[in-house]
Amino acid sequence: MADRGNNLKIIVSALKRLERISQSRRKNLMSVLTFDQQSTSDVCEHCGSAYPVSRGSVYADGTPFALYVAGMYGCEGDSIVVLTIAIARPVGDLPSAIALQVQLTATELQMSIIAPETSPWRNHTYLGRILTREEALSSPVKEVFFRIADLVVTTNSEVNAFLNS
Ligand SMILES: [Zn+2]
Repeated sequence: MADRGNNLKIIVSALKRLERISQSRRKNLMSVLTFDQQSTSDVCEHCGSAYPVSRGSVYADGTPFALYVAGMYGCEGDSIVVLTIAIARPVGDLPSAIALQVQLTATELQMSIIAPETSPWRNHTYLGRILTREEALSSPVKEVFFRIADLVVTTNSEVNAFLNS
């Protein structure tokens, strides 16, 4: 998939540009968050069957600055979304990422940070390094991660339909 590699290169270079923008500017950039979505699929490590994946770029005022990958698993009975979000780090060459497990219970939407080794995309180097739970919680861009997570979970049509099915 040459296109995919090329798209990712463009996104990674945009992430690097964004790293050079100061924290305060970054905060302003958060004012208008949008994203795009693409359907794909991957193979489950548990059961070997294909599961749907929705992924895309996240934009702040039209500038791409983050990526997300949402895998939708139904193989263990419950509908679970594993959502990995990568954004520019304040310093460093590659973005850093967090991996979340998302599940809709009868009463609430549960989101929990999962260990990097549990992410199905731990070997996708374009996502950068996946933070541990402790690192994610103390990250200067923690709020940004969670705003993107809320946005994707509530407004990505595929993810939303899956969680509510
Ligand atoms: Zn499975």
